[in-house]
Amino acid sequence: MVTSRLQPLVRMLLPLAVALMPVAWIVTSIRTWQAMGEQRVVYLRHRAAMIAGRLETVPDELMEQEPGLAGLVFYVNETPELSGLWNGQELFRTETVRTGERELFRAYVPFHRQEGLRIARIDLDASEADFLVAHARNGLVIACIGSTAWLGMLAYAMRAQRRQAELAHMAELGKMSAVLAHEIRNPLGTIKGFTQLLAERLGAAHRELLEPILSETSRLEQLVRDLLLYGRPPAARERECQWAEVRAGLLVRMRQSGARVECESRAVSWKTDPELLLQALVNLAQNAVESIPAEREGVVRVSLESGAHLGIAIAVTDNGIGFSDEARGRLFEPFFTTKATGTGLGLVITRKLTESLGGTLELTAVEGGGTRAVLRFRERSWNAC
Ligand code: ADP
Repeated sequence: MVTSRLQPLVRMLLPLAVALMPVAWIVTSIRTWQAMGEQRVVYLRHRAAMIAGRLETVPDELMEQEPGLAGLVFYVNETPELSGLWNGQELFRTETVRTGERELFRAYVPFHRQEGLRIARIDLDASEADFLVAHARNGLVIACIGSTAWLGMLAYAMRAQRRQAELAHMAELGKMSAVLAHEIRNPLGTIKGFTQLLAERLGAAHRELLEPILSETSRLEQLVRDLLLYGRPPAARERECQWAEVRAGLLVRMRQSGARVECESRAVSWKTDPELLLQALVNLAQNAVESIPAEREGVVRVSLESGAHLGIAIAVTDNGIGFSDEARGRLFEPFFTTKATGTGLGLVITRKLTESLGGTLELTAVEGGGTRAVLRFRERSWNAC
């Protein structure tokens, strides 16, 4: 009970914790880098102090051999800008100076000689202390690259998980659809058969009353067929097939559609399952016809395209109303429809049929109105016949 209540919390917190890890990694690396930067200044100050200490005993000319020393200037007389150092109010004054590409750490340090108090301006090559920050800087770069890769992998894993859940849901839906369709098919056949018989026996006078039952059962039969196809798409049985064969079948099936169907004729053949290809094309052509408003002269164009690296493409283009931006992302969602009597299964089935033929299906808007649906078989090429 408690575990089931905690589960959503754990499911939410876990990705959050995983996403926060790279942030913690970067923040820690920045802190280390900053701390090492401070250590670098401490190191340079220490070096300057050591040099100042040696100035009290070592002759000036020997100081030139001091490693990392970029410049040395002595102030013998009091200068107003360094008065704090002269009168002992300041022990040390430092600044960073840039000369071209070079960064200098400059320290003003008082020291004693026999002649009296002096101030040395010690210029140190700041890069001498870079070894202290180098690892921290590299660590920060690695943390940034690693975190980006980590977050990318997390996003990919989450997307894959969501996709897997979607697929599992679709598979479940498909199974359920197939079971339901099987259960509905037989009683529906009985209802239709007996209604047809009744219509014949009762004659024309009662036919009008029975007509809605017949048309609605036909619609349900189509839905059952779609559900069965959606649940269990048939396996492709491929053979060398002429385009003319598919074209003829398409034109026959679209004869009564009410739109002008212009189907490109080409004497070519390739290996495919003509039944499945025809079914896919009929679905697309039907959708194309249904998208054309009654007042417009409808034209549905079926064209063939081929290219060396493109494989074979069959495009079904219409001059219909097209689809909205909102519909664009949902076209292949099962049961999504904008039609009063649509099932929302046509495109999902068509895509499944196309995939079992080794192809892809894509719908794009045509400029100026209309839709272009393309079946693309990249791995195929046709033969002239
Ligand atoms: P149905 O035809 O039952 O609605 P489909 O899966 O075939 O189911 O289509 C889903 C939706 O996609 C349609 O309702 C329609 O909004 C849109 N659609 C499909 N083909 C076209 C097309 N050629 N032109 C405009 N919209 C289309």
